[in-house]
Amino acid sequence: MSDTTATLKAIPEYPQTMGHPRPLWMLFMTEFWERFAFYGMRWALTLYIVAEFFKGDPSGQAFASRTYGAYLALVYAAAVFGGYVADRIIGYQRSILVGAVVMAAGLFMIMLPNEQVFLFGLSTVIVGNGLFKPNISSMVGQLYGMADARRDRGFTLFYMGINAGALFSPLLTGWLASHFTDTPMEQNYKLVFLASGLGMLVSLFWFWIGRRQLKGVGRPAPDQASRLRVAYVVIGCVLAIPLVYVMMAKAGAVVLQWMLSALFVGLSLLLLVEGFREGKVQRDRVIAMLIIFVFNVLFWMFYEQAGSSFNFLAQNIVDRELFGGWVFPVGWFQSVAPLALVLLAPLVSIAWGWLDQRKLEPSIPRKFGLGLLGNALAFVVLMYALSSLVDSRHLIPFWPLVLVYVLQTLGELCLSPIGLSMVTKLAPVRLVGFAMGGWFLSTGIGNNLSGIFAGHVSGKTGMTVASALSGFTFSFWLLAGAGAVLFLIAPLINRLMHGVK
Ligand code: GLN
Repeated sequence: MSDTTATLKAIPEYPQTMGHPRPLWMLFMTEFWERFAFYGMRWALTLYIVAEFFKGDPSGQAFASRTYGAYLALVYAAAVFGGYVADRIIGYQRSILVGAVVMAAGLFMIMLPNEQVFLFGLSTVIVGNGLFKPNISSMVGQLYGMADARRDRGFTLFYMGINAGALFSPLLTGWLASHFTDTPMEQNYKLVFLASGLGMLVSLFWFWIGRRQLKGVGRPAPDQASRLRVAYVVIGCVLAIPLVYVMMAKAGAVVLQWMLSALFVGLSLLLLVEGFREGKVQRDRVIAMLIIFVFNVLFWMFYEQAGSSFNFLAQNIVDRELFGGWVFPVGWFQSVAPLALVLLAPLVSIAWGWLDQRKLEPSIPRKFGLGLLGNALAFVVLMYALSSLVDSRHLIPFWPLVLVYVLQTLGELCLSPIGLSMVTKLAPVRLVGFAMGGWFLSTGIGNNLSGIFAGHVSGKTGMTVASALSGFTFSFWLLAGAGAVLFLIAPLINRLMHGVK
């Protein structure tokens, strides 16, 4: 047993439900409702900004897209601070509770029809999410012993909860926005935000009531128990909101990229220092984790074309006319990935279990390699469609884009739950939350780069078949190259992991 595992607290005896510790299902539902809130309003943000603050004038689109890109990048970057707060200041459970309250407050704020209040509301959501998202993920890892082979599967199930929330809420809020009242669209968007805020309150109460099941896991350490610390964190959140506001509304993607990269370097150094302090094994594990984080940036950079360049592709280049002249709405493509994920997750979970029994389960870096290759394969489909299936109207058929989302989702399932699980195994015990923040930061950097890349694909005059083909060919080579490199260096990374599987 390594020095790290030896210092871990014993896992309480949990009752088992459906083959997993019972609190997993409580965390699953808490995260389901938080993601319900997060994704329920995400699709409406840019549309609302243009409708409410630019009175529908298309000149508002650029501001809306920039704000949205920065919002997403910061939502994930804030996890670094949230993770640190849980590790060092108030523990996981309290961080989740404070984060849920702050996030709900932000969601209700964005209902108010004033641009500045709206932007402050989004900044509040960012701060709240930073406290919530990494810490609920770290808690999943704390339910399993270090040698428990069910950990990856537990994370895959948890990931299903994430995506079930992401799948259902846009369907509900999309319906609310278009059918519920006959008032102008800006009013209907407020219903969307209201539904999200209420979803967040459900998440808060679910965790509030269910947290006893955790049997003390995630409670503040003895030196963190003082309630004064919670007050400090709340004050810190209030102070952080204007800072986040400036970064979101004023910085721009390139400046933000520099800031996020600097944050990543700072985080890596802190984790390395802690690794060195704990000895060679922990040092190597931190190095292995940081290498994987870099590959993670690439995965999300191209995965997140979903919200940008793939949307323009769907709108302008995909023939969406299906049976009897019915046109498939562009927005519905956003539900393809979460639907595929919910359907495929149990299969992937079973596959890992089956391979594990036969001692054939791929190592963590190889699973990551598979994730990158799945994503790369999605771009092969686009390359084929954009070079060989374009008809006389300059349109490609419907099915390739659906297949793209399914392949990306398969890749996501090999990589994203495994990444969450990996962090809980490789991070120094005292900094698991912070390292989880690093995981989400790498996602945030990927998100930010995805916007910059999509901007290049569209160029000044909008996306064409030729610009899409050249952009997506580049994506393929980068992803395939990275996947291949990861496969090759997997033995080296495994050595650095010192037995963690
Ligand atoms: N869709 C997942 C979630 O919302 C993945 C997020 C990410 O890491 N980009 O949790």
